[in-house]
Parts: sequence; C-alpha cells; structure tokens
Amino acid sequence: MQVFDMIIDGLPVKAESTFDVINPASGQAFARVQAGGPAHVDQAVAAARAAFPGWSRTSDKHRQDLLHALGVALEEEMPALMELVTKESGKPLGGLNGIGAGMEVGGAIAWTHVTADLELPVEVIQDNDEARIEVHRKPLGVVASITPWNWPLMIAIWHVIPALRAGNTVVIKPSGLTPTATIRFVELANRILPPGVLNIVTGESGVGSAIARHPDINKIVFTGSTPTGKNIMQNAAGNLKRLTLELGGNDAGIVLPDVDPKVVAPKLFGVGFHNNGQTCACLKRLYVHDSIYEELVGELARIARDTIVGDGLVEGTQLGPVQNKTQMDFVHELVEDARANGARILSGGKARAGNGYFYEPTVIADAKDGMRVVDEEQFGPVLPVIRYSDIDEVIARANANENGLGGSIWSNDRTKAAALALQLECGTAWVNEHGAIQPDAPFGGVKQSGLGVEFGRYGLEEYTSIQTLKIMKN
Ligand code: NAD
Repeated sequence: MQVFDMIIDGLPVKAESTFDVINPASGQAFARVQAGGPAHVDQAVAAARAAFPGWSRTSDKHRQDLLHALGVALEEEMPALMELVTKESGKPLGGLNGIGAGMEVGGAIAWTHVTADLELPVEVIQDNDEARIEVHRKPLGVVASITPWNWPLMIAIWHVIPALRAGNTVVIKPSGLTPTATIRFVELANRILPPGVLNIVTGESGVGSAIARHPDINKIVFTGSTPTGKNIMQNAAGNLKRLTLELGGNDAGIVLPDVDPKVVAPKLFGVGFHNNGQTCACLKRLYVHDSIYEELVGELARIARDTIVGDGLVEGTQLGPVQNKTQMDFVHELVEDARANGARILSGGKARAGNGYFYEPTVIADAKDGMRVVDEEQFGPVLPVIRYSDIDEVIARANANENGLGGSIWSNDRTKAAALALQLECGTAWVNEHGAIQPDAPFGGVKQSGLGVEFGRYGLEEYTSIQTLKIMKN
C-alpha cells in the first residue's frame, strides 16, 4: 500500500505513526499517511517563516512563471491525480454532467493558470502639487490552509495558489479523510518552488487547532463546516489572524410557474446531485410553484431512479459513494425524519447493501420548512422539494435560514428572475443555473456561510494587507 509523507522545508517527513485512508467505494484502506501532530505544525511554520523574506521579494513575474510551471506539472500528472481523487473522495472519474475527478483536476489546473496571471496593481489615490498617495498590496506572511473532504484537490488549489501568487508562504493541512491528492500536489510543487514556500502537515489529532492557535501564522483560509469555522475564529483571535472562512451552505432554488418541468428537471437534478450533493453550493432546498409541482417532482424522481450509482473508477458511473459512513448515516437520519413527518420519498431513501457507502439518489416530495432535511445542510444525495404559491412569501422562506452561500431563480423571464435573485440573502445568486463558479468571479458566503471571498482580484486581495504610501511634494 502506498505510504505518503508530509513535506516540510522541501523534504519528506515521517511521523511516529501513520493512519489509513479509506476508499469509500470499498470501505477498504488504499493508502497510509503520516499522523503528524502539533510539533510538525511548529516545524512547518518555522520553515514557511524562514522562506517568507525570499519569496515575498521575488518579482511578480518570477512568481507567475513558477505557478504556471506548476500548472503544467499538474497537467502532466492528471490521470494519476484523478485516480487519487476518485479513490479518496469517491467522486467518479467522469461523473454526472461531467462533474467528477476529471473536472476537479482540470479545474485545479485552470485555476492555477488564471490565478497566476492576476495582477495586484498599485492604486494612486492622489497625485497633485501637494502629495502623491499610493496604495500598495503586500503579502501577509505565513498563510495556513485547512481543507475539507468534498473537493480536496480543487479547494487546496483555491487556497494555495492565490496565497503564493501574492507572495505569502503556506502550510496546508488537508482533511484526514482525503489527503492523498493534496500531498501529491505539494510534492509536485516542491520540485518547482524554493524549499519552505509550501509545506504540508497531515494528521487529525490537534493539528487543526495547533494551526488556529499558532502565534506565527498570519492568516488562515478555511473551507469546511460552520461549527469548525467558528472554533477556528475563536482560536485565531490570539494574534488577530486574518481569516477567510468558506463554510456550510443550504442553498435554495425557486422555480417559477412559467418553466417547462421536463426541460428544467434534468438541470435541477444535476445542480442538486452532482458529487452526491457533497458540494457547498449544491442546490439543497427546492421550492416549486404549486401549478407545476407534481409534474416536476415526478420528473426529478424518474431521473434519480435512472442515475447510475457505483464505483467511480468504473466508466459510465454518474454518482459514486458518499465520502464516509458518518455522513451517509447522517443523510439517512434526515430522510427518515422527513418520512416520519409525512414527506413522500419518491426515489431512493436507503443505502445499498454490500460494501462501500452507496446511497440511492433520493427525491423527497411534500417536504416542508421546519423538517430537518430542509432546515439543515444535508450534504448528500437527497433533495427536498417544497411547494409554494406566493412568490414574495417564498423569497422570505428561502431567506429564513442561517446559511447564505448561494441561491437561484428558475424562469423563462430573465429580467423578473434577476430582480428576484437580488432579493436572496446569499453571496452568489444564479438565474437558470446553480453553483457554477469560475476563477475570475468572486465567491463567498454571507450570514453563517462565511467571511470573505475567494477567486479573481477580490479573492487575491484577501491574501494581502494594504500599505498606504504618502509622498509629500513640498
Ligand atoms: P469539517 O469542518 O469537519 O472539516 C474541515 C477541515 O477542518 C478538516 O481538514 C478538519 O480536519 C479540520 N478541522 C476539524 N476540526 C478542527 C479544529 N477544531 N480546528 C481546525 N481545523 C479543524 O468539514 P468537512 O466535513 O470536511 O466538510 C464539509 C463542510 O464543508 C460542509 O459544511 C460544506 O458545506 C463545507 N464546504 C464549504 C465550502 C464553501 O466554499 N463555502 C466548500 C466546500 C465545503
């Protein structure tokens, strides 16, 4: 079985013990990684701190060249990275609507190149006879990245590349459930970057909180659940770390009565169920107008029953297993709660017998606000569909949730839909789409879904502090 080491200061590092990484399609271990601890965090932060002066003074052009070289190295390694992503996360190589490991690695490559090309221009606020005032963007120092298990490689890239582009050095801690593709990425990067610029520490016990508390880390970028994000925020207060927190979502989609249910159903199914619903900005609550409700839920359930669920390494698989058993059991608990409270389970509603954590795609009709599956983020292959008849009332119901990541309106009247979308309390609102992101448009949550944004210039600026320079002219 392949054993993966940590990488600190450009060198492989072992801990006293290792732990298993499970393939959720089989329930069996396929790799082992080092069980690092707080002492490894200290070592990695010291290496990143030592590398910071050199890296932050490197010219923009040189940093951009090295990051493009990293993008090329990722591309050369694409098939092997895809296999690691599928084995650790369960997502299929291809996947529903092409959303799978190929998209994850391809997206990682695209994000690397686009982010490498971003600029941080000096802004001139005033330039007259009295004075010139310039605003400069300077790197923060050591940035720590903590990532979740749902899109492990892609999210690592979202954190690491802008941090490096802006001139910071980085320590990354991947989820213990899905560390292998990220370790491979850091190995590749360390063939290109100077030692200490990008370090990786694996291990669960105390590693995350040691990072959050560390006095020599200047910023944490975290993607994961809202409770963990709040815990990190508390622990980070000691030295006033900057924070970007991309947290949970419970995105609502609202379907207006003017759409054709047959046309819209496959799109809605795709945005709700890709990666088994284990994407922060998946559609997680669907509000459908009374006049088309039965036809649309029927269509969604038919698509769910036709979906090919299986091992993601097998060609043609659309949905793989749920990433871990705890998550699958949680999802089933929500489905059973809905069933007990009078909802109709139109498809799925149960795990598959046999090995692996396979759960049948589940469409729930007659779901209501107040049911756990509607109010809580299910993060699994389950979509509750809720009936409405008044548009103002449904906007209020969609907004009556503590999360605020994304939301969508589905209609043939784009002008009306866009006006309604702007009433949704969320970081990104889509019309006739949901969850679609791109490397040049900012993305982030409001309310309990997070702090700050990622991507594009706005995202890059979060890895900098402002220095104002005033030059007197007399
Ligand atoms: P999680 O919060 O359980 O874990 C995320 C990471 O935090 C892991 O690496 C974990 O080891 C680490 N961690 C755990 N406890 C910690 C602590 N006390 N201090 C520091 N680090 C700690 O989340 P998860 O279950 O891996 O991911 C699923 C969640 O992530 C969902 O809620 C999903 O919506 C959210 N998510 C959000 C976005 C977004 O962009 N907003 C994207 C992807 C996932």
